[in-house]
Amino acid sequence: MSSNQALFERAQRVIPGGVNSPVRAFRAVGGTPRFIARAQGAYMWDAEGRQLIDYIGSWGPMILGHGHPDVLDAVQRAVTEGFSFGAPTEREIELAEEILKLVPSAEQVRLVSSGTEAAMTAIRLARGATGRSKLIKFEGCYHGHADALLVKAGSGLATFGHPTSAGVPAEVVQHTLVLEYNNLEQLDEAFRQHGADIACVMIEPIAGNMNFVRASVPFMTRLRALCSQHGALLVFDEVMSGFRVALGSAQSLYAQQIPGFQPDLSVFGKVIGGGMPLAAFAGPKAIMEKLAPLGAVYQAGTLSGNPVATACGLATLRLIQQPGFFDTLGARTRRLTEGLQAAATAAGIDLRGDCQGGMFGFFFADHLPQNYPAVMATDKERFNRFFHLMLDGGVYLAPAMYEAGFVSAAHTDADIDQTLAVATRAFQTLG
Ligand SMILES: *Cc1c(COP(=O)(O)O)cnc(C)c1O
Repeated sequence: MSSNQALFERAQRVIPGGVNSPVRAFRAVGGTPRFIARAQGAYMWDAEGRQLIDYIGSWGPMILGHGHPDVLDAVQRAVTEGFSFGAPTEREIELAEEILKLVPSAEQVRLVSSGTEAAMTAIRLARGATGRSKLIKFEGCYHGHADALLVKAGSGLATFGHPTSAGVPAEVVQHTLVLEYNNLEQLDEAFRQHGADIACVMIEPIAGNMNFVRASVPFMTRLRALCSQHGALLVFDEVMSGFRVALGSAQSLYAQQIPGFQPDLSVFGKVIGGGMPLAAFAGPKAIMEKLAPLGAVYQAGTLSGNPVATACGLATLRLIQQPGFFDTLGARTRRLTEGLQAAATAAGIDLRGDCQGGMFGFFFADHLPQNYPAVMATDKERFNRFFHLMLDGGVYLAPAMYEAGFVSAAHTDADIDQTLAVATRAFQTLG
């Protein structure tokens, strides 16, 4: 049996940083990443045979837990029929129909292989459909690593963004305007200055890439009104929140509070693939028909709508529609977040948690932050120590304070109790 440390050293010789996606390297929290050997239900086992209660769930997709028998069966059957055809299949229609049934704002959907690809193409489509170039995004929202989205705010609203990654030319982000999340004044001002040139506004309605921050209802109401008034498309990036915070995704929650609310385009990933590489973007027919082969906006993919991935996604989407699925999942996630807050308070530590459906976040702070600077101002030192105490106690949380957490249908009340017992000891050590 190899140790995590030996595997990490070996990995770093052949893979940059030893990982194929940066956050896995534990750079934010320090220490050695756990190399995962296998997973089942709510648990994963690392290379040293240690069992961990998994609150990452592959960063969201594993809403049923690992290895659900019905999903496994669907994937095993699909695999025997062929890995990839590069030609259309009936299963793609079934998955599209399933997604559209649950997302009334969309009439058509195109399947791709990653959230990055879906978000990037949604922007191209918005630009193609409006004939405009500029786009607005919000600080702390992540929409994948396409060039135009790796951008931070310029010095004022009159200046557009600066790249956050080497290798992205300034010219490529010159049309991207970055605003503060939940800031109504900035939003008004940006539309006042640039309204006629804005192709789209892309937003994580419940942001999961700066821990867990909700767009406020007044903010979303104003955003929808401004987009409609100025002819800009409102693009909901629901790669993380989609089919995770509610069966109808985050947009269904805003529709409950804002009469007639709908985004123009939606981007999905994570849960819709059930752990396989699959993502999608969707919207009204009039916009979606601007895509090739019908329209002038080009997009393609060798593995798009892959038959094994669609089998996995379809089985997953069918299972989460069982009556009461989200009620049970939501109650369990709430028990976790409320339990963490109560245990911290008992130890004299400031902690605030929030959750929706099977997604949660918590902050070492005496309030819930409303934007990225506020998230980054919470106690990072304390989070990092807490993270390691939890990991040592067999609880696998996201290894950075700016990431959300995920509970699956496989997590039992006993798993939550066990987690809270480990957390109670950790808070006592911290306090
Ligand atoms: C994960 C994520 C993406 C990127 O998806 P990948 O499949 O990792 O490319 C985009 N947007 C949001 C909101 C995400 O959480």
